[in-house]
Amino acid sequence: MKIYNTLTKRKEEFVPIEPGKVRMYVCGPTVYNLIHIGNARPMIVFDTVRRYMEHRGYEVNYVSNFTDVDDKIIKKAIEEGVDAETISQRYIAECKKDMEALNVRPATTHPLATQEICGMEEMIQTLIEKGHAYVAADGTVYFRTRSFSQYGKLSHKNLDDLEGGKRSLLVSGEDQKEDPLDFVLWKPKKEGEPAWESPWCDGRPGWHIECSVMSKKYLGDEIDIHAGGEDLIFPHHENEIAQSEAANGKTFARYWMHNAFLNIDNKKMSKSAGNFFTVRDILEQYDPMVLRFFMLSAHYRSPLNFSADLMEAAKNGLERIRTAASNLGFLQQNAKEGNRSEAEAALLETAREYAKKFDEAMDDDFNTADALAAVFELVKFINTNADENSSGEFLKALEEELLELADICGLSVQTGQELLDSDVEALIAERQAARKAKNFARADEIRNELQQKGILLEDTREGVKWKRA
Ligand code: AMP
Ligand code: ZN
Repeated sequence: MKIYNTLTKRKEEFVPIEPGKVRMYVCGPTVYNLIHIGNARPMIVFDTVRRYMEHRGYEVNYVSNFTDVDDKIIKKAIEEGVDAETISQRYIAECKKDMEALNVRPATTHPLATQEICGMEEMIQTLIEKGHAYVAADGTVYFRTRSFSQYGKLSHKNLDDLEGGKRSLLVSGEDQKEDPLDFVLWKPKKEGEPAWESPWCDGRPGWHIECSVMSKKYLGDEIDIHAGGEDLIFPHHENEIAQSEAANGKTFARYWMHNAFLNIDNKKMSKSAGNFFTVRDILEQYDPMVLRFFMLSAHYRSPLNFSADLMEAAKNGLERIRTAASNLGFLQQNAKEGNRSEAEAALLETAREYAKKFDEAMDDDFNTADALAAVFELVKFINTNADENSSGEFLKALEEELLELADICGLSVQTGQELLDSDVEALIAERQAARKAKNFARADEIRNELQQKGILLEDTREGVKWKRA
């Protein structure tokens, strides 16, 4: 299995630290709003990486954080007149609903920054003791960037170039730095902001330290894969490397994976630019599996431009797979009893070639675009070779192969999932009852279950309306 490593700018054979096991950390979202579909790209991509690694027999320990203390969260809390925790808890819950709808499996651990302050203080203390960090007069603790000689190795920047652009590195309020390249590990409290006691001042951590600390706590000093969107390469991941390697004296992560942006009109989709669609917006129009299919239709290191045409293409692609799966289910119900024929055994050999092709594509730095092309070849093969004369055994084998490949992509295409109108109505009634009883967890569960099966709900004044995606 080859992975493109941002650190070496090469595709490298994947060799885990511990045979059979993968330790993987993916930087998660800052929770102050509903996530947009750009944020969903790394979630879907790295969930697929995880699923494929499990398919190849690895046990994957997958850690992804929620940044739940940050300027934007505090700003939103002030606007709404609530505390920061109310905001972050609300949007963590919403984010988890989106993940579930998109079939993104929960991480092994989802740590929260606010629950890991002690560990952050310990690592900062170690950095101070080793001379890699210092406390300024106002209590801010800075990382001494020049003390880490390999700084820049991930983003392939050199310190002198960075120094040349130092004006842009001068951040207001950070005027007590020894050097403009230094970055914040701990900052003093401001009025009305959440704060924790520390040996340096009451305050809160800078952003970068949380990932170094959570990765160490849940995965150990050395991990296999660290991942996130390409905007995180500099400064976030560069700073994480500096903190972790300076504190622990070991190589932090062996493979650094970064997804390219999801764009809109060829510009990065982002909350700050205001050019975004939330996952929720899209799920009002499309089955969540269409969005997942769309994300996987491009290689994760290629920019992907969001457009209605590409979503329609994704919808059609998904439909082709679903139709093949449902035909296999239907044919099996009526198939003759009996084992496969010799001719069918030979055909199954050919069908397995598509699974092999799928694996080859995924082994080549998770080329999901080519892997989906192999799935379509299998679909075509099924459409040509499975019919009412086929044996049940043959049809079952084809169905298993198709469903397995779809499942590695996290695409639920299973047959027998179609709901009758009466089933939908009954579930909607159950959801209304759950809401009335303030059992919002159950209500959300039903909404997600329906969404997964392509039923979209809309809460209107006249009651709940629904349609098939
Ligand atoms: P944030 O909440 O901005 O820290 O982002 C959470 C994750 O989403 C990070 O891994 C980002 O790199 C990623 N991300 C944000 N915007 C985009 C985008 N337009 N395309 C792809 N990834 C993105
Ligand atoms: Zn991070």
